[in-house]
Amino acid sequence: MKVLKKYDQHRRDCSCDLKCEDCGYEETDKYAYDDRNFWDNVIPNRKCKKCGMSSNELGIKADVVPTRYADYEVV
Ligand SMILES: [Zn+2]
Repeated sequence: MKVLKKYDQHRRDCSCDLKCEDCGYEETDKYAYDDRNFWDNVIPNRKCKKCGMSSNELGIKADVVPTRYADYEVV
């Protein structure tokens, strides 16, 4: 899933809007977590609820989503 936007952030908890690169299905994840693991590993492996494809399965390299805090920061 491609990250369209990230919002409602409190510490590292946030919401994000996602779009499937394959079929265009869009969904909101209200339990996103703003760290490198989430954007670099979790989201690229997330399967679309409609077509079942993930960015990794499609061979699409995910955009780098900047995090508000570095991973080592305590917030
Ligand atoms: Zn899809």
